[in-house]
Amino acid sequence: MAKVLVTGGTGFIAAHIIVQLLERGYHVVTTVRSDDKGRAVLNVHNSTDVKDRLSYKIVKDVAQPGAYDEAVRSIANLDFVIHTTSPVVFSVEDPVRDMLEPAVNGTTNILKAVKAYAPSVKRVVLLSSYAAMRDDDRKPPPVYDESWWNPITWEEAVQNPKKTYQGSKALSERAAWDFMRDENPSFELVAINPSRVFGPAAPHLITGELDKVNTTNMVILDMVQGKMKDKLEPTGFYSWVGVRDVALAHVRALEVPEAAGRRFFLIAGYHSNKEIVEIIKSMSHELAVRLPADLDKFEVDIPGPGERYGFDNKQSREVLGIEYASLQTTIKETVESFVKLGA
Ligand code: NDP
Repeated sequence: MAKVLVTGGTGFIAAHIIVQLLERGYHVVTTVRSDDKGRAVLNVHNSTDVKDRLSYKIVKDVAQPGAYDEAVRSIANLDFVIHTTSPVVFSVEDPVRDMLEPAVNGTTNILKAVKAYAPSVKRVVLLSSYAAMRDDDRKPPPVYDESWWNPITWEEAVQNPKKTYQGSKALSERAAWDFMRDENPSFELVAINPSRVFGPAAPHLITGELDKVNTTNMVILDMVQGKMKDKLEPTGFYSWVGVRDVALAHVRALEVPEAAGRRFFLIAGYHSNKEIVEIIKSMSHELAVRLPADLDKFEVDIPGPGERYGFDNKQSREVLGIEYASLQTTIKETVESFVKLGA
C-alpha cells in the first residue's frame, strides 16, 4: 500500500487525516517537533494491525532553509505528501517569525525537499484555508468558490495583526502554486481550503490535556466548561466544516485523478454560537446547566441572507465526493470528545 508523509502529526486536522489514512491501509510517516510529541502520536495507533504502518521524523523548525531535507531523504519509496503544518493562533509576538515564516517557508521547504529527494512522490496535498480565498473588504460579500483569492500582501499581513493569519495562508498557498509554475516538478499539487473546522479533539490528547485543544474548537470547549453561562461570546466567524470531512477530503485528494492541479473549498454551512449552545443543551441536563438558562434573550448574531457571503461547495461534493456532516452531529461528537478528556 502507498506511503504518505503527513507533516505536523500533532495537529488537530493532521491527527484525523492520519486516522483515516491508517484505516484505509496506507503507510504513514509524520513529522513532529520532538520525540515526546512523536510518541504521543504513536501511542494512539498501537493495535497490531496499524502500529507497523506509522512512524515519525523530527523536524524542529520548519521555517529554516532545508528544514525537511533530511526527513524526506530518509523515507524510501514515498508516494504522497500531505502538508498541514502551520501556526493556527490569532495573536503572536512577532508576525514574521511566529506566523508568516513558518507558514510560507514551511510550504516551500517541503516542496523543495520533495522535488530534490523524493522523485517517487506523485502528488502533494496542501492544507490551505478559506482564509486564502476570502476578501473581507469586498462589498457586498460575494459567493465564494475556488476561483477566489485573498489579495492580501506580505506588508499588510505584517502590519495588521487581524490579518496576519489570513496572510500566512494566502501567501503560503500562492507560494506553492508559484513553485509549481516556476519549478515544474514531477509531482502534482492539490490545495484543500476549509472554512473554520470543528470536530472531535485530536485522538492523542489524554485526560487533563484540555489546554491542548486546538484554537478553532476552543469556543465549544469554553461553552462546555461553563465560561459562557452568563454571556454568549459573539459568533464572529460564521461558517464551518467538520474535521472528519476535511480529513476525508485530503485522502480523496490523493486518490482522485481529476483532483490534480485544483483547489477545493470545504464548507458545510453557517452557524451561530446560539445554535451551538442549543445543540449542547439538548445533549444532557448536566451540560445544559453549564449554559445560559434563557437562550431567548440572545440573538442569532450572524448576517442574514443577502448580507452574508455565499458559498459554492460543488467541487468538493462532485470531485471529492464529500457529503457534509450536519452541525448537530459535529458539535455532539466534539462535545463528547471533550467530556471524555475531563471537561
Ligand atoms: P493545530 O494548531 O492543531 O496544528 C498545527 C500543527 O502545526 C501542529 O502540528 C503544530 O505543531 C504545527 N506547527 C505550528 N506552528 C509551527 C511551527 N512554527 N513550526 C513547526 N510546526 C508548527 O491546527 P489545525 O489542525 O487546526 O490546523 C492545521 C492546518 O489547517 C493549518 O495549516 C491551518 O492553517 C489549516 N486550517 C485550519 C482550520 C481550522 O479551523 N482549524 C481552517 C482552515 C485551515 P506543535 O503541535 O508542535 O505545536
